[in-house]
Amino acid sequence: MSDPDRDPGLPPGDPEDAPIVTCSRCDREWNLEYELEELRAGNRALEQFALDHQRHTGHYPDDTSPWLATCRHCPAGEAFLAERPARRGAETHARHTHHGVTLEHASTDEDENEMEASETIIEPDTE
Ligand SMILES: [Zn+2]
Ligand SMILES: [Zn+2]
Repeated sequence: MSDPDRDPGLPPGDPEDAPIVTCSRCDREWNLEYELEELRAGNRALEQFALDHQRHTGHYPDDTSPWLATCRHCPAGEAFLAERPARRGAETHARHTHHGVTLEHASTDEDENEMEASETIIEPDTE
């Protein structure tokens, strides 16, 4: 009898699954095992790593295009690696402070001329 839900090629919880991040600017690559095991960052391991990398080097690693939620009224601002948490962060700030928050996504392409930026404004709920 074989279980169709089980892929025999992938044992569950294999630590080899830790994602690899590369940065062509630093010409380095990192294994995120530390973030997964020590920080228990889980799904946010890559995001955590990318934000730390930006904080220390001023740029993001390869294949990461941050979403920036920036308040238009106060210095609050946060960076996220996915639209959903970024939007949630912006909406939460707007709800609590009645501030409008700009949500920006810069897709960093190899070709800098192709750099696209999209911008959304999260307006506070005025009810
Ligand atoms: Zn780098
Ligand atoms: Zn604000």
